[in-house]
Amino acid sequence: DVPVVAVVGRPNVGKSTLVNRIIGRREAVVEDRPGVTRDRVAYDANWNGRRFTVVDTGGWDPDARGFAARVAAQAELAVGAADVVLFVLDVTVGMTDVDEAVVKILQRSGKPVLVAANKVDDQRGETAASELWSLGLGQPHPVSAIHGRGSGDLLDALLAVL
Ligand code: GDP
Ligand code: MG
Repeated sequence: DVPVVAVVGRPNVGKSTLVNRIIGRREAVVEDRPGVTRDRVAYDANWNGRRFTVVDTGGWDPDARGFAARVAAQAELAVGAADVVLFVLDVTVGMTDVDEAVVKILQRSGKPVLVAANKVDDQRGETAASELWSLGLGQPHPVSAIHGRGSGDLLDALLAVL
């Protein structure tokens, strides 16, 4: 069976941009306005000859009531159906209470989790990325989904846990 990688995190951290980077196509919808990705969309991916399915998540309105709970519930659904979770954070914003709600779900899930510290477009973001060690989810992988910086290392780390 082809392993499933769920990409989770709050809106606007760059999940869909990272999914496009991983699949090498521009199929996942990227928006400046948060909340446009449909609930869960699966794509075929391949890295170094290893096939996997990558699932983009999203579809919440950040202004809706109970927003954090909705993000958390969606993450829970995606994680339940995944073999590995790619948890994306935005180093230009840092940790938020929504991120913390997702972290709790990931810890409970028992699934392997990779932390992608996104928007590390240059050297300056590296420090903010290393602060994400404090999540307790292992090594944060600094990446710039837009420019591709660090994405090869992230995919190598992903293959190691698939
Ligand atoms: P999602 O809501 O988590 O799927 O986030 P999107 O992929 O739609 O991206 C949200 C915004 O962040 C868009 O304006 C992207 O262009 C921007 N973005 C995504 N990745 C990066 C990155 O690595 N660096 C920078 N500077 N911006 C990014
Ligand atoms: Mg999206």
